Amino acid sequence: MKIAVKKSILSANDRVAGENRARLDAAGVLAVNLMASPGAGKTSVILATAERLPVEVRPGVIEGDLASRIDADRVAGRGIPVVQINTGGGCHLDAPMVRSALAQLPLDAMEVLFIENVGNLICPAEFDLGAHLAVVIASAPEGHDKPYKYPGMFARADAVVLNKADLLDVFAFDLDDFRRGVALVNRKAPIFVLSCRTADGLGVWMDWMLDRQRDAAARGEQR
Ligand code: MG
Ligand code: ZN
Repeated sequence: MKIAVKKSILSANDRVAGENRARLDAAGVLAVNLMASPGAGKTSVILATAERLPVEVRPGVIEGDLASRIDADRVAGRGIPVVQINTGGGCHLDAPMVRSALAQLPLDAMEVLFIENVGNLICPAEFDLGAHLAVVIASAPEGHDKPYKYPGMFARADAVVLNKADLLDVFAFDLDDFRRGVALVNRKAPIFVLSCRTADGLGVWMDWMLDRQRDAAARGEQR
């Protein structure tokens, strides 16, 4: 019974996710769903990426949090269009939440949309939002065992970002063990080791993301 209910919730979600994706495709916008535990640096990755985008690639952001506008205010402070979703205790974003946020964003004046999911490595992976890319962000202080403990999240990732790489030594982070853990559940996702503080590694991540952005722009032009 429980399983049947969960299935129907997910299929209703997937229908709205499909509508979101169609809307983003029509606007030629690449949407990136960023998932991580609290404190991994999702907002920092978004800001560091956004400020290095070529001028013709204009960003927009959806911020998902249980409560507060702290992250949205950080983003708005950089002059980036942003909508804050407060889930009121909900531990993940779903497609209907993103649909209402999309209605408040200037999609025609954007080329890439960063969706910062609620800080949680479990259920956000189960809810398709209509984004084109699922990116999991881990960080050096969290330890190298995260892929082993949250395989579902890492299995669904199109890319993995390891943030706060300037602290790898401080936390005795075993990068090889982390890579092995990701490879156990996901052989395709590239792993980008970077630091928002020093900007090391940001360029490689951005090149990969911008390649996908060009594909999204081409989809928009075909319509
Ligand atoms: Mg944040
Ligand atoms: Zn949840």
